[in-house]
Amino acid sequence: MFPDLMFTFVTDTYINDNHLLPTAMYMDPLYFIFAGPAMLLGLWAQFKVKSAFNKYSQVRTQSGITGAEAARRILDRGGLSRVTIEATHGMLSDHYDPFHKSLRLSEDVYNLPSIASVGVAAHEAGHALQDKTGYMPLHLRSIMVPAVSVGSYVGPVLFMAGMFLAGTIGTTLAWAGIMLFGSTALFALVTLPVEFNASRRAKELLVSQGIVSSAELKGINAVLDAAALTYVAAAAQAIMQLLYFLTIMNRRNS
Ligand SMILES: [Zn+2]
Repeated sequence: MFPDLMFTFVTDTYINDNHLLPTAMYMDPLYFIFAGPAMLLGLWAQFKVKSAFNKYSQVRTQSGITGAEAARRILDRGGLSRVTIEATHGMLSDHYDPFHKSLRLSEDVYNLPSIASVGVAAHEAGHALQDKTGYMPLHLRSIMVPAVSVGSYVGPVLFMAGMFLAGTIGTTLAWAGIMLFGSTALFALVTLPVEFNASRRAKELLVSQGIVSSAELKGINAVLDAAALTYVAAAAQAIMQLLYFLTIMNRRNS
């Protein structure tokens, strides 16, 4: 599910990297004014996901259905028998791989009949269903991956280089960096509907297919809503970083 190594083709992987900026930027107090709150929100969200996941990993589903079984049921009933489900290493490394049409679930999620497991597994199955139905934001997200994977790294570097150079060349370079990095912010925004929609599908299907009762939804909500918050934080971070670049640019020009 969750905060992606944002710039891969797969949906949902965990670590929400934001160590992308050149170190020099971290020495600017203005940077912290812009980026600080969103970074704190990100840390808090990560903490919430882990604690909700740990808590609801201890709560058994009344049906006794495991994450892998839940995902299989949802996929089969959604006409996706061809999508494979594999166990993978790493805590909360769960993701759907649209290229290989494969759902990869972390070992606990795969094996355990817990509320957290079926919640995460159903969310990932939700991404597979998005893929099947040609859900636009998912498609858009995939198209953006190449630009974003370059932009998130090269953008800030170009921007800093532009700042050190005088004249038109410097300004042009800095703007190029801002545009490249802008793709990262846009990507983080496009990710939001993809994630919210997968969780909404998961909650509906878990109940309608008898995997959890409506009383058990509380735990599912706690886990999936915390995960959604991490994406909101990631988007906020990218946007605030972009605003920071624009502010420095404005100072340079004035
Ligand atoms: Zn997801």
